[in-house]
Amino acid sequence: MSDTTPLQVPAVRPVNAAEITEWHDEADVVVAGYGIAGVSAAIEAARRGADVLVLERTGGWGGAAALAGGFIYLGGGTPLQQALGFEDTPENMATFMLAALGPGADEAKIRDYCDGSVEHYNWLVDNGVPFKEAFWGEPGWEPPHDEGLMYSGGENAAPFNAIATPAPRGHVPQMLHKRTGEKGGGFMLMQPLVETAEKLGVRAEYDIRVQRLVVDDDGRVVGLITKKYGDEFAVRARNGVVLAMGSFAYNNKMIESNAPRLIGRPGAAIEEHDGRAILIAQALGADVAHMDATEVAFFGDPQLMARGILVNGRGQRYVPEDTYPGRIGQMTLFHQENQAYLLIDEAAYEEAMATESSTPFFRTQPKWVCETIEELESEMGLPEKSLQTTVEVYNHHAAKGEDPLFGTKPEWTKPIGTPIAGFDLRNCTAGFTLGGLRTDLDSAVLDIAGEPIPGLFAAGRCTSGVCAGGYASGTSLGDGSFYGRRAGISAATKHAATKHAATGQPATETN
Ligand SMILES: Cc1cc2nc3c(=O)[nH]c(=O)nc-3n(C[C@H](O)[C@H](O)[C@H](O)COP(=O)(O)OP(=O)(O)OC[C@H]3O[C@@H](n4cnc5c(N)ncnc54)[C@H](O)[C@@H]3O)c2cc1C
Repeated sequence: MSDTTPLQVPAVRPVNAAEITEWHDEADVVVAGYGIAGVSAAIEAARRGADVLVLERTGGWGGAAALAGGFIYLGGGTPLQQALGFEDTPENMATFMLAALGPGADEAKIRDYCDGSVEHYNWLVDNGVPFKEAFWGEPGWEPPHDEGLMYSGGENAAPFNAIATPAPRGHVPQMLHKRTGEKGGGFMLMQPLVETAEKLGVRAEYDIRVQRLVVDDDGRVVGLITKKYGDEFAVRARNGVVLAMGSFAYNNKMIESNAPRLIGRPGAAIEEHDGRAILIAQALGADVAHMDATEVAFFGDPQLMARGILVNGRGQRYVPEDTYPGRIGQMTLFHQENQAYLLIDEAAYEEAMATESSTPFFRTQPKWVCETIEELESEMGLPEKSLQTTVEVYNHHAAKGEDPLFGTKPEWTKPIGTPIAGFDLRNCTAGFTLGGLRTDLDSAVLDIAGEPIPGLFAAGRCTSGVCAGGYASGTSLGDGSFYGRRAGISAATKHAATKHAATGQPATETN
């Protein structure tokens, strides 16, 4: 039970239940990790009568979810969308998600997620998550106040506004006095859910780190090996284990092997996201998907970007500047060698700076301020005529309110004048990983043959969810809570029934 690999990371291989001499604790459903996927699983398992134990590595619940801005990607006609006058259908939502979150997006998962989205919104509300009936329609990373709805994936920008009817789907729990990255909508998502779990009798143990899986002779997962204050303990799961331990954004080796563009730039994640859930399941034969996919944040202020033009290291535009800033991040990191400059004229700059922002720390000073584009081009060290040509072409069409190259919306498409400022946005990206364990619609972890691993379920960013390549804000808290619920239901019921059948006992809906 204590072998280590040559890299001195704790061992990941499963332990045979026959080796366990004493169980430290036991429950019907044992959930590893008390973030968004974990709490959602715990609630649903407890509602189905299961005795639920959550094991959390840190000193309290929350995980990355409690630090998050709190976007939850929901649509298909949620009561909040309807109340604010936006039309949406599950089909329309799926059309957008399939176009924006690929290539290679899991169509079955996306359709399932879209079909269940309104019910999931109602479930959150029923469990105490508050959403204010207010829409924030300005460019931004998050609403600066407590507005409940915003575009959060480029739905209303090119090219997606021509593929699906634009509808805002970034639902944000109401939170006053937000502090980005400290206490935001994510906290107001987690708090009522944890309170709900507590009322349902869910037990939680903190400062305990899940290390390995325990399997019986049939290959069924029946428990976990944990570590607390340096000692190892075995915890038995009578029905099933739910892995909800987050991404591998902070596992350098896994990042190097799978998503090397993120080397040195983990973001919107916590150090506990060390990939362990993925590794211990892989050691049991689990399959993984989309391990190269990453969310990418871009440290530019959307109000400034929408009013200027973004150019790459060759002085050429490459993205509609009025789109979701996370898409700008991906386009910059994946396709422009992380080289970006923002050009904005004085009038547009003044206008942008007078607006509100949820990320005022992205409003840095320009590196260059010049009287002409020619001068700026020279100051930036770009080849003669490269930037001048870019601005000339852009202005030619912008004078008619058009952007035939990238399709920015007419409201933002205005000729660039002078004086002009240039912001150096090179290497201004960070992100987290989207790939992970391959799961089915019941959140069962699938092995490399495509079969569910008995007794093992997973959700959240240790799994591959609705995003395969592209990203929309809210899809992590969204699929983490949605498939977290499924994991809890399955662990408490479906596979309990299988177990009973295997032992000849009558299968029951609850354990
Ligand atoms: C600043 C910030 C803003 C964000 N904004 C958004 C947003 O607006 N919308 C959105 O969808 N996403 C957002 N995210 C990302 C989102 O929070 C995460 O992707 C999401 O929380 C992942 O859910 P999870 O349940 O997999 O992980 P988490 O919510 O992080 O929960 C995992 C839990 O597992 C615990 N754990 C880890 N290892 C172990 C172990 N070995 N044993 C026991 N416990 C363990 C962790 O401590 C943690 O509590 C943001 C993240 C940050 C940091």
